[in-house]
Amino acid sequence: MKGKKLNGTVIVTYRCNARCTMCNRYKCPSKPEEELSIETIKKLPKMYFTNITGGEPFIREDLPDIVRELCKKSDRIVISTNGFFTERIIELCKEFPNVGIRISIEGLEETNNKIRGLEDGFNKGYLTLKKLVEMGHPDVGFGMTVQDANAKDLVPLYDLSNELNMEFATASLHNSFYFVESKNIIKDRLMVSKEFEKLINKLLESNSPKKWFRAYFNHGLINYIFSQKRLLPCDMAFDTFFIDPYGDVMPCNGTKEKQVMGNLNDQSWEEIWNSKQAEEVRNTVRHCNRQCWMIGSVSPAMHKYIWIPALWVIKHKFLRFFKKQKYSMFENKIVRDFRDGKVTKEELDKCSTCDMYCNVNDGLSEQSREQLQRKSGEEIVEEDIANQMKNKNN
Ligand code: SF4
Ligand code: SF4
Repeated sequence: MKGKKLNGTVIVTYRCNARCTMCNRYKCPSKPEEELSIETIKKLPKMYFTNITGGEPFIREDLPDIVRELCKKSDRIVISTNGFFTERIIELCKEFPNVGIRISIEGLEETNNKIRGLEDGFNKGYLTLKKLVEMGHPDVGFGMTVQDANAKDLVPLYDLSNELNMEFATASLHNSFYFVESKNIIKDRLMVSKEFEKLINKLLESNSPKKWFRAYFNHGLINYIFSQKRLLPCDMAFDTFFIDPYGDVMPCNGTKEKQVMGNLNDQSWEEIWNSKQAEEVRNTVRHCNRQCWMIGSVSPAMHKYIWIPALWVIKHKFLRFFKKQKYSMFENKIVRDFRDGKVTKEELDKCSTCDMYCNVNDGLSEQSREQLQRKSGEEIVEEDIANQMKNKNN
């Protein structure tokens, strides 16, 4: 494995200032003093792509130091953020003009603020995006987690991203320890799929091959919300990894319980990657039936099994061009079966990862969890941010 570049996601913190309806991470923050240190980050392997995420990564005041270290190891870095800390984002982009920024916007103004739970969240996120575009930052985009409440905003937001000449990334609801959530589920699958269908057709009609492959990704999302087997194998932990704020190296963020291959605070990268424990985790990945369809696990698979999305793209471009035939969500057998009453909503719900009675594992350390006995996660993070602002003004 030595020498081979990997695809990594670095979860720099579990602290978050938002209150998203589909993610309870904000209730379960990590303790700042336990979060990944620069020394641990130095031990990460060479990567061809690194995603920095949280929680909200810009809560960490030392994020520029982290990025500086990761720049030495990774060909490309993208930071996922809720866009709230405009000034910090702008400052970081001035220092690192090649770093990509993805701001999650969950719909047009009213919908976004309702889902994200951040007062004025849409305007803040949008302002950050506009400022980045104005300063000519080359790699800016936004991401949206599509659900019943915001599906109707999917195409308008895509149009907005085009107007601003930005990347537009989609996801849908997932359950896992990472989101501290087990109750996420799409209720009106046909309505949400219809909106994906519109987006897929817009992407296919564009002149950008990148967008045609995005169309395939969104086709996979329809398949996912109907709880079907993934369109591509999941090879997490083989050439892709996640690391959490405590230094635990994991295959992904989609598992029900946290799966740990080793700890980078205590071990070297080679020790972890070649360990028996890592092999055991790879074995569970081989038999995993959660069928996630998130960009972190799908993008490497789309590169590895490129002929599968490529054939899909060729077929649909051909049908559009020669037969004037648009993509239809009913090309998925399961969608037809559902429409025709051959499969019920209850049957599909049963196949999903949604579990209304599950006791969710939050993946926190003992110490981080202990602080929740005195205060709520929201209070802890609010105080934390207030202190950061106070110190800055002094
Ligand atoms: S989805 Fe992201 S922004 Fe929303 S609460 Fe979870 S970590 Fe925070
Ligand atoms: S399907 Fe893949 S990404 Fe999802 S939980 Fe299983 S191993 Fe992780």
